[in-house]
Amino acid sequence: MRPAKRTQPGTAPAIVWLRQDLRLADNPALHAACRRGGPVVPVFIWAPEEEGAWPPGGASRWWLHQSLGKLVGEFRAAGVKLIIRRGASLLELLRVVKATGAEAVFWNRRYEPAIVARDRKIEEALRASGLQAESCSGAPLHKPETIRNKAGQPFRVFTPFWRTCLASGEPGEPLPAPRRLTPPTRRPASLPLAALELEPKPNWADGLRAAWEPGSAGAKAELQRFLRGGLLTYAVDRNRPDLMGTSRLSPHLHFGEISPRQVWQAVRRFAESKAIPAAVWRNWQFLTELGWREFAHHLLVHFPHTPEQPLRPEFARFPWRKNPAWLRAWQQGRTGYPLVDAGLRELWSSGWIHNRVRMVVASFLVKNLLLPWQPGARWFWDTLVDADLANNTLGWQWTAGCGADAAPFFRIFNPVSQGEKFDPEGSYVRRWVPELARLPAAWIHQPWEAPPATLAAAGVELGHSYPRPIVSLRISREVALEAYRRITR
Ligand code: FAD
Repeated sequence: MRPAKRTQPGTAPAIVWLRQDLRLADNPALHAACRRGGPVVPVFIWAPEEEGAWPPGGASRWWLHQSLGKLVGEFRAAGVKLIIRRGASLLELLRVVKATGAEAVFWNRRYEPAIVARDRKIEEALRASGLQAESCSGAPLHKPETIRNKAGQPFRVFTPFWRTCLASGEPGEPLPAPRRLTPPTRRPASLPLAALELEPKPNWADGLRAAWEPGSAGAKAELQRFLRGGLLTYAVDRNRPDLMGTSRLSPHLHFGEISPRQVWQAVRRFAESKAIPAAVWRNWQFLTELGWREFAHHLLVHFPHTPEQPLRPEFARFPWRKNPAWLRAWQQGRTGYPLVDAGLRELWSSGWIHNRVRMVVASFLVKNLLLPWQPGARWFWDTLVDADLANNTLGWQWTAGCGADAAPFFRIFNPVSQGEKFDPEGSYVRRWVPELARLPAAWIHQPWEAPPATLAAAGVELGHSYPRPIVSLRISREVALEAYRRITR
């Protein structure tokens, strides 16, 4: 393409290419486009075939549809139209350039390996066309290339990684949302959102709809709920799936409806309003969890093979089993272990699982069933509304014991004792596994141990109304430990 004919500097339109940054506030790419002083053209391009092996799954597509719908309204209120396209990203960007006479394209970086490679090519092609093409940093708190150990290598252990992040300075104040944007004089064509066909057919998303409010207003409301009611008790309650003890910000953070910097600064303001010293709030467990998100993103940049392969190479020799029937039972929440089944049914119904239960269900798949972690990660990818390549990869490799700073393989979560400890009344299980709802708390995490009369009184018929355990915890644990010994000998 020939270089576009230049208009007065600063007056030609600038394109903001939106991807996983579906917000107007604290959006560095949007801010950079506004600073040119001319019209702004926000563009979203649906191009799942460019995402390599990880195109967005069903639950993510549902979320994206809702979130884009909200974003259309937010841009309209600011005076411009969000242009929606479908097709090859470069081609569509160049078409919008041609249609509007834009001279610059800005976007916020993403870190998935296929996207990094694609974006590099697009940046080169845009520059070769005589356009200003700039990527900005908006997803992590720190740029991955800036956090290194003393030997100049990426960290593989969380604690020194996060200590180095904290020492490298406070995240800045979030950028304000632009109040008014100038539309281009020549308006490019846009598809209706429905043309992207992101909503499921047939409709299975009622559970998701009931559980979530996608979009930046929903993100802000969730953050406010958490600041008012969860932050100060987070360190204690975060492990309790029966309580709403965590922020539930993960899908909002994944889609960039809120930035980690906005969350960080909201926590800081909250702490300061209560006269809590910085030395205390900066070490709050909640901010440390944002640190794990940061760690996951940095690891994905430095070890781009890890969504498919273990970081610790000896695990490539692990003698995993093949058992499609067990995998199906796990996916459907019919393993006979109530906490595991509750988690997987929560996932299917609401698109989310509590972190403690994610660890329990992942450990059960990998260690008790001895099935490889990759199909588990794939299942999460398709069913989670917060499916995130960096966090999902870290979570699965951590649980399987084959990743960075991972739980040792011999740490095998026991779903019975985890249930008794973190869901002591059984209310989480009762909610998601209604066929056990009438069992007393003493038996709810191990119904196979309940006296027959108790089962009968609760209307539970093992093997019929609820499955018997598909494996023995004791035997499967021994088999897993022996398999592990074989790869470490
Ligand atoms: P909070 O406890 O309120 O934490 C605040 C934020 O910190 C989260 O929204 C998230 O962005 C980040 N965070 C918290 N814990 C972690 C963690 N362990 N690793 C990385 N970031 C973290 N998280 C995802 O966002 N997407 C995934 O696809 C994903 N897959 C996972 C798979 C497995 C097997 C495991 C064990 C964990 C996975 N996690 C994933 C991490 C974690 O479970 C979720 O981020 C968390 O449960 C989201 O709930 P929340 O927003 O209430 O978290």
